[in-house]
Amino acid sequence: MNTSDITGKNVTVLGSQRSAMGAARLLRHFGAKVLVSEFDADKFDADKRQILGDIEAEFEFGYHSPDVLESDFIIVSPGIPENADIIQKIRSKDIPLYSEIELTSWFIDAPIIAVTGSNGKTTTVNLIHHLLNTAGYNSFLGGNVGVAASEVLLDSLSHKSDRPIFVLEVSSFQLDNIDTFKPDVAVILNLTPDHLDRYSSLSAYYESKLGILRNLDESDTAVINRDDPELSRHDLLIDNLRFFSVSSPAGGDAMLAEGIIGIMHDGEWSPILPAKALPLPGKHNLSNALAAVASVMKFIKDPEIIAQGLMTFSAVPHRIEYVGKINGIRCYNDSKATNLASTEVAIQSFPQPLWLILGGKDKGGDFTTLISQLEASTREVLLVGAASDIIETQISPALPTRKVENIESAVKYCLEHGEAGDVLLLSPACASFDQFENFEARGDHFRTLIQNHEGWAM
Ligand code: ADP
Repeated sequence: MNTSDITGKNVTVLGSQRSAMGAARLLRHFGAKVLVSEFDADKFDADKRQILGDIEAEFEFGYHSPDVLESDFIIVSPGIPENADIIQKIRSKDIPLYSEIELTSWFIDAPIIAVTGSNGKTTTVNLIHHLLNTAGYNSFLGGNVGVAASEVLLDSLSHKSDRPIFVLEVSSFQLDNIDTFKPDVAVILNLTPDHLDRYSSLSAYYESKLGILRNLDESDTAVINRDDPELSRHDLLIDNLRFFSVSSPAGGDAMLAEGIIGIMHDGEWSPILPAKALPLPGKHNLSNALAAVASVMKFIKDPEIIAQGLMTFSAVPHRIEYVGKINGIRCYNDSKATNLASTEVAIQSFPQPLWLILGGKDKGGDFTTLISQLEASTREVLLVGAASDIIETQISPALPTRKVENIESAVKYCLEHGEAGDVLLLSPACASFDQFENFEARGDHFRTLIQNHEGWAM
């Protein structure tokens, strides 16, 4: 599609969250007639009324009117499942249905690097964005990462920039409804179980993620994790495949050799940086860094610029974010770890004696899996929140545990009993909603406690 195909078209946007509001603005910008239709009346607020009024979009909250089924095409929000009533009706009338990423891609006139995977997306897109900016590109970062892709595109249209590139974080829900979406570089970080509440099977979820490769042609590149067991089970029929690997003996285009991050190019090895110099902890972040390096190889040829970019990257907030030290105890905020898999990678990142703050709102995980990983290194596991009883019955007495009232008491206890050289890690393996509005609020609270504490230093 192009601009002239959109002008005057009747388009419904289903949902009213961030990406839906962006889609509505983008469609209006290109002259479509827009109806925003939101089933949940509670999602309506004065801000949305103002925005939709300003752009002259129609809207309805609390129901979907029959007008929806008269649309030329429909943009569906990632939060609306395929089995929702309205989606079934739309399918039965054969009205084209697209995601907001698909819509946005029609109007992007610049290279796109798109990243998907089960874990590590946000860290990796931020790394890619930083590497590109370091090399003098104008990188536009959007998608699942805070600002919707459509909003980022609208922003880019308002000023002309040299050497633009779009870096997009793409969820499986956005990929479910693509049609012609074709990134110049498509990255799959890993495939591990997730979202079984939305997909009929694990393979359906994996197929959705692999959809990022569907429209690639000989001018595009796929960047794939060679270490991922699930990915290696799939035959990827892509002309330009570029692999990254932390551990595979077969190596990759971006890989680790004797502790050095480097790239293989036309059979020649270019070292970039000792892995130790990467300012991010953990093997998983090494993998994310190699993914980022492989993704920018098409755009940045000078290994020194890549090295400079890697060295100057600061961790994304709430993902094993270093927040400073007090009396020699180094403190990390990993509030984004809301499931066991992400807490496990955080634990594996620290060989030092560890104080771990765990707990929050339980999501039904099996915490006994943490025992073998924590036995050797843990000072104490400090349990907070609604899940603390359940976790305690599962991991105590195998691990030293202590129930505390809240994160503040956990910090206080650790600082009173810890020693220089220890690590204090907030990596809760639980959702935050029992005590906080979201994981960001929980992480901000922890960071503030640390940084306002007597003796704090960076
Ligand atoms: P996403 O955007 O895919 O949720 P993030 O970059 O926000 O990923 O990281 C979320 C959590 O997932 C991190 O706190 C970390 O514990 C874990 N994680 C990050 N990268 C990886 C990876 N490559 N493999 C496994 N786990 C990871």
